[in-house]
Amino acid sequence: MVIKGAGVVGLVTAYELARRGIEVDVVEQSERIGAGASWFAGGMLAPWCERECADEKVERVGATAIEWWQTALPDKVAQEGTLVVAAARDTRELDRFATRTTGYRWLDADQIAKLEPDLAGRFSRALYFPREAHLDPREALSSLRDTLEAMGVRFHFGQMTDATVDRRVDWRIDCTGSARLPDDAALRGVRGEMLYLRTGDIQLSRPVRFLHPRHPIYVVPRRQGVFMVGATMIESELSGPITARSLMELLNAAYALHPAFGEAQITETGTGIRPAYPNNLPRITRSGSIYSVNGMYRHGFLLSPALAHDVAELLLNPDHRSEFYDEP
Ligand SMILES: Cc1cc2nc3c(=O)[nH]c(=O)nc-3n(C[C@H](O)[C@H](O)[C@H](O)COP(=O)(O)OP(=O)(O)OC[C@H]3O[C@@H](n4cnc5c(N)ncnc54)[C@H](O)[C@@H]3O)c2cc1C
Repeated sequence: MVIKGAGVVGLVTAYELARRGIEVDVVEQSERIGAGASWFAGGMLAPWCERECADEKVERVGATAIEWWQTALPDKVAQEGTLVVAAARDTRELDRFATRTTGYRWLDADQIAKLEPDLAGRFSRALYFPREAHLDPREALSSLRDTLEAMGVRFHFGQMTDATVDRRVDWRIDCTGSARLPDDAALRGVRGEMLYLRTGDIQLSRPVRFLHPRHPIYVVPRRQGVFMVGATMIESELSGPITARSLMELLNAAYALHPAFGEAQITETGTGIRPAYPNNLPRITRSGSIYSVNGMYRHGFLLSPALAHDVAELLLNPDHRSEFYDEP
């Protein structure tokens, strides 16, 4: 079996196939894993928060992903929940968020301070989603590759062409994300810009979502005083560098969350193109001997375990039913 694309979907699919005893080759056109959108992700496993703007399937199916990642990469997942806050003038945003989601409890200022001491005194109330988790996507992809190699999966970077792959195998699984935009008319790109900040002046233990009527952002703590700040949602397939406007919006929001971010170093900015179908839900499609898993939108880390499970089962058992399979 050949999997095209070593982003989160390709690697998670390789894992689900390899653990069923299937021989897998992963073919990646660039020289490394995670060369696409997966590299820029927040790594939030946040099915309950995402329900604010997503279909119920994202919450229901996404809730199973936390355990999947904990099993596949036991020491890479932090299950510390998600904190959702808003500036005093925007607390209506917090109420609106609450009406659209479940799985949270309200916190007052003292409870916020207990959970995130560096946010003490900054917010009078917050929503806390205790079951949510997060991981560092770059660490996770790299560990997943090591795990896959230990399971016997072979990786091929850069050198293989489509024709070579076609001659070698019966089945192929296309996990090439936004590279499919020119070939799949239903697919569109949603540009996500992000940045990394480094500061020793603030510590957070969990993702914090900062609501705003126009520019909601989130800050996800990484190791060693590094924070990922994301992300824009722009209907565009242009993958160029972050724009000045987006950079200002992300930085303004981070500064409003905590002024210590004003003194932080910007260590990286980046842009990923999220592949999305019109209903913002992923699809498994099939054309002859090629399955395609795509349209992960904002939920590549959250939904790929379920999609990978389904595609593996579809290959092994023609009677398997998947709510994401778009039958030919
Ligand atoms: C800023 C941002 C923040 C995000 N935050 C989150 C989050 O917190 N949680 C979450 O669940 N999701 C998040 N997402 C969404 C998630 O990143 C995407 O849904 C996911 O990365 C899509 O994965 P993919 O494997 O389909 O595509 P990609 O990661 O783009 O991988 C596709 C791979 O295929 C390769 N490729 C392309 N063409 C070929 C070819 N012909 N042959 C071989 N290889 C090929 C590419 O080089 C690439 O490595 C975020 C996205 C962005 C942009």
